Amino acid sequence: IIAAFAARTPGSAAAYAEARTHFPGGVTHDTRFVRPHPIAVARAAGPRKWDVDGHEYVDYAGGHGALILGHAHPQVMAAVAEQLANGTHYGANHLLENRWAALIKELMPNAEMIRFTNSGTEATLMALRVARAATGRPKLLRLRGHFHGWHDHMAFGVTNHFDGTPTPGILENLAGNVLLVDPNDEAGLAAVMAAHGSEIAAAILEPTGSTFGQVPLRDSFVHALRAETAKHGIVLVFDEVVTGFRVAKGGAQEALGITPDLTTLAKILAGGLPGGAVVGRRDLLELLDPERAAARGVEKIPHQGTYNANPVSAVAGIVTLEILRDADAIARSHAYAADLRAAMNQALVEMGVPWAVYGTYGGVHIFTNWKRLPISPTGFDPLGLGYADLKVPRGMQTVTKLLLALRTHGVDFSPWPGGPVSAAHGPAELSDTVAAF
Ligand code: PMP
Repeated sequence: IIAAFAARTPGSAAAYAEARTHFPGGVTHDTRFVRPHPIAVARAAGPRKWDVDGHEYVDYAGGHGALILGHAHPQVMAAVAEQLANGTHYGANHLLENRWAALIKELMPNAEMIRFTNSGTEATLMALRVARAATGRPKLLRLRGHFHGWHDHMAFGVTNHFDGTPTPGILENLAGNVLLVDPNDEAGLAAVMAAHGSEIAAAILEPTGSTFGQVPLRDSFVHALRAETAKHGIVLVFDEVVTGFRVAKGGAQEALGITPDLTTLAKILAGGLPGGAVVGRRDLLELLDPERAAARGVEKIPHQGTYNANPVSAVAGIVTLEILRDADAIARSHAYAADLRAAMNQALVEMGVPWAVYGTYGGVHIFTNWKRLPISPTGFDPLGLGYADLKVPRGMQTVTKLLLALRTHGVDFSPWPGGPVSAAHGPAELSDTVAAF
């Protein structure tokens, strides 16, 4: 499999050889690392992209989840091109940031106030800081395996450190302030709350489960977390960097009918350009307002950021959110994902391969260590599995071979393995994907 992939992609191999002289590991994002080499992409349009050797791929990288409308959507590109002619940065307030914010408020149920950032990592960093400032408490509660960006406070319980020890370069003493609970472990949640509830500033989670539901969360667990956080005065932060504008127009909070205190957004928010935001309760975000903080007798939380709400990201975000508001793109992406899951499971049954494909909303996850036979295309219940079943024995060699073999046959999945799908994917992409699979 590896030799076939390498033989087909000499241009990507050459690009990677140079990349290794520039970048640690030859990549600029950890999850792009793969041996013998990643594909080097030359261009992309709609649901497809092309590598430097001229091979076409059905794309399920989806701009790491930023591109629910597909690549180079004509309306988004036209708006960006028009804005480029008017400048990329004003170092000042502008009308586009107001329009962008008004749209977010229209769509996202808990958005009373907004502060823009440049990324999801910056958004979670700020949300947790706001929670600490508002409560005067030191501790954070998070769910094991949930990803909230790469800043210091969230470098526990992820990236092969599921035991809660810090990743390299992170201060040991931060670890004591981060409490880990296993997804769906209501008893564990109750125990942590009983022991530490009054010390916890914020609880943060990916509201449909880690990695867009790879380890799915039960709705009842999220409701329990809302009840416990309300009881203890803890700021509940929904990290909707992936789920925002993808699970529903109003994100997972709309789909679940749960109102968090703060929400972090990025990815789709900025229509494929860099951007993020913290949105939520007015009284919390007013801690960033110099006059209102002073009126409350507290020091304001500092926050800068050269590219916050830059007009190019703003127009891409505005056009994308308007399309999501006015058209059926989200529903079409969900329908495509459901069709793809069913078709891939059907193929697995026909081939007698003991894997399963699952997911909710627009998510597709390939589970390669399924042990219970026979599987049924519709009967897979990942909620019957524990965290360890889904997350730990991934069979990484199998996954890597699967990803490389799919690339050899013209499909580029995300390394979960799986993908966020887009509204641009249609019947041709479905049949090409299933044939390759
Ligand atoms: N939170 C979640 C749930 C994410 O998936 C990501 C990015 N994959 C982040 C935060 C960090 O966002 P960014 O990469 O924009 O910093």
